[in-house]
Amino acid sequence: ALTAGIVGLPNVGKSTLFNAITKAGVEAANYPFATIDPNVGVVEVPDKRLTDITQLVKPKKTIPTTFEFTDIAGIVKGASKGEGLGNKFLSNIRQVDAICHVVRCFEDENITHVDGKVDPLSDIETINLELILADLESIDKRLTRVQKLARTKDKDALIEMDILERLKDALESDQLANSVEFTKEEEPIVKSLFLLTRKKMLYVANIGEEEVSDPSSNPHLQKVIEFAATQGAEVVPVCASLEEEIAILDDEEKTVFLEDFGLEESGLDRLIQKAYTLLGLGTYFTAGEQEVRAWTFKKGMKAPQAAGVIHSDFERGFIRAETVSYNHLMEAGSMARSRELGYYRSEGKEYIVKDGDIMLFRFNV
Ligand code: GDP
Repeated sequence: ALTAGIVGLPNVGKSTLFNAITKAGVEAANYPFATIDPNVGVVEVPDKRLTDITQLVKPKKTIPTTFEFTDIAGIVKGASKGEGLGNKFLSNIRQVDAICHVVRCFEDENITHVDGKVDPLSDIETINLELILADLESIDKRLTRVQKLARTKDKDALIEMDILERLKDALESDQLANSVEFTKEEEPIVKSLFLLTRKKMLYVANIGEEEVSDPSSNPHLQKVIEFAATQGAEVVPVCASLEEEIAILDDEEKTVFLEDFGLEESGLDRLIQKAYTLLGLGTYFTAGEQEVRAWTFKKGMKAPQAAGVIHSDFERGFIRAETVSYNHLMEAGSMARSRELGYYRSEGKEYIVKDGDIMLFRFNV
């Protein structure tokens, strides 16, 4: 499964946010195969459509799909030079698919900031610089090897040299590797470099409790949003300490609690949804009398591959899929009516599954 890593300087609220994630985490009974790594938190992906389908189908059981966050502790200034848990940090971050970078935007005299004052832009710069330095090191290593080959006029080596140099130029001017554009042909070579700053990134602005009803009242948030925009990145404001309180509430209590703050959904729920979308993930549903369930697939997957998310047998023996979109189902009001209206389609191996599809797979065993 794809995972988003939580990073940030010390004392910004990472552990608090990660605690919220584990407390809000899934019921193990529903997900017997969910990971037991203590650094991984598995959460349900909130989805109103699942609730709507449940109301319509009235199954015995409803199971949301899940998403994983990984706690990546230990970044400090100098991490790329091996300070603190530097090397461990970098290898952990290499394994995640997206980076959720927590920055401190809350003021609290009792909680020391590593640099003496709350300055989220400087925090971002510090961490991004460590990531950039680590990437530069990877590139330099590779360059040394490729340069030798390039002297023999090896065609592939020349192509790779050019890629490496473009990346190096960007990194040396403090740009992330994901700011450089590559062609479809070049992309696999870039991928093989496993660069940290090529990963999808999202900023989590940890704001004060008194600011959650109106995040724009936080004096730092706007600057973070403007900075993130220059990287094409998004910012999710959350109050980590409040999320930790919300995480232990049941659904009803949670709704009441959020209403008190004038909110419709928790910051954590928004973070989950943003990270999910950032990774190009979508949800399809299966809906039977026994169980209505949401499944995660990668957007662009064809029907057999998407079926493989449920079980590899479904992919191997795939015959066809019967499907109706969520919107059509809601408009029709029932499965039976969807059929009458011709909304219910039969699709073959080439069908590209869409976010919100309700799927019934036909397969040979
Ligand atoms: P980490 O070092 O980044 O993991 O930071 P922690 O999660 O341990 O948080 C550092 C301190 O800040 C702890 O004392 C937290 O209780 C506190 N803290 C975390 N989030 C918030 C917040 O949203 N508001 C306030 N006021 N304090 C927070």
